[in-house]
Amino acid sequence: MKVLVINCGSSSLKYQLIDMTNESVLAKGLGERIGIEGSVITHKPTGKEKVVIQKPMENHKVALKIVLDALVNPEHGAVKSMDEIGAVGHRVVHGGEKFSDSVKIDDEVMKAIEECAELAPLHNPPNIMGINACKELMPNTPMVAVFDTAFHQTMPASSYIYPIPYELYEKYGIRRYGFHGTSHKYVANRAAEMLNEKLEDLKLITCHLGNGASLTAVKNGKSIDTSMGFTPLEGLAMGTRSGDLDPAIITYLMEKENLDIDGINNLLNKESGVLGISGVSSDFRDIEGAADKGDQRAKLALDKFTARVKKYIGAYAAIMDGVNVIVFTAGLGENSAAARKDICEGLQFLGINIDEEKNNTRGEEILISAGDSKVKVLIIPTNEELMIARDTVKYA
Ligand code: AMP
Repeated sequence: MKVLVINCGSSSLKYQLIDMTNESVLAKGLGERIGIEGSVITHKPTGKEKVVIQKPMENHKVALKIVLDALVNPEHGAVKSMDEIGAVGHRVVHGGEKFSDSVKIDDEVMKAIEECAELAPLHNPPNIMGINACKELMPNTPMVAVFDTAFHQTMPASSYIYPIPYELYEKYGIRRYGFHGTSHKYVANRAAEMLNEKLEDLKLITCHLGNGASLTAVKNGKSIDTSMGFTPLEGLAMGTRSGDLDPAIITYLMEKENLDIDGINNLLNKESGVLGISGVSSDFRDIEGAADKGDQRAKLALDKFTARVKKYIGAYAAIMDGVNVIVFTAGLGENSAAARKDICEGLQFLGINIDEEKNNTRGEEILISAGDSKVKVLIIPTNEELMIARDTVKYA
């Protein structure tokens, strides 16, 4: 079966067409600035030159129509006709407590996804737009929703409940949901395969370190805690997000800086994290470069990031009663030898010992722990699209 994987953001549309007979990517691309001036789709069929399509795209449906035309185009297409696309897999950010696995989309599921939009007002509405656009353009093709939150639905209540009045959990669904679940699940499974172990026998800490970043404790194949919470703002210091804070800072700042709700949300989501500390950039490459040249705030931003990752590794080793495997994935985790080295430094007491030469690797699957390291440390490039495509085949 050929599966089209769709990931819609507020003004973007990422897609991949995957042939599931051998899990090969036939074409992929990115639509940007949808609904605003300067809309563009960059389409890359495997083995052929990329094509840049610039025309007005007032909404996701118009953009998707252009993508589908590109996929069947005789010159730069990847299939002869739309009939070859057997199913569509949609990334949906928030599945609330309703979805602990992927699901075939029908009217009832759509209603439930719409209800979850209140919990993810920035993310679920564009995901819904993508599903609706596909429904109109490919009405007979089955569609599956794959949720970022689903993998974390196995967390025990002691991990997901917040110490606020319990009635507020019941009334508003305020609890830890966790995100990046598709990525954490993919790398956990891949780690077990690479080590020739059963996932159920392992205690893993998966570190998804990108612009958004989260750690997950995976015990016996299940997520038992994760650093992102009710929203993707909790946990690590990220590119522009603060992560954990004393909640009293929020009201204090609102008063002192005269900030309203939008103002404080903007400050914590867009102006904080390593960007906020360094004042340099949200991109770790820029910050590492500035720190190398002696910029003290850039160095402090990296130190804060590292310290918090370490703190979570220690905490997750404690709640799992040990750890056998650490996995690094996503932009920074896959590519930055310096970040991995700094994080693992001083964790020898937990049995974590990396081989510096092996650690000098970028973006490929590799075991980087030293031969005598009790804990196996791996780099595994994440592949959320493949995970979505696999679930799409399973549930379509
Ligand atoms: P992601 O959100 O997974 O796409 O990750 C994007 C982030 O990964 C970027 O903002 C960079 O900070 C980081 N990144 C990517 N490549 C490198 C690299 N070679 N060295 C350091 N950081 C990198």
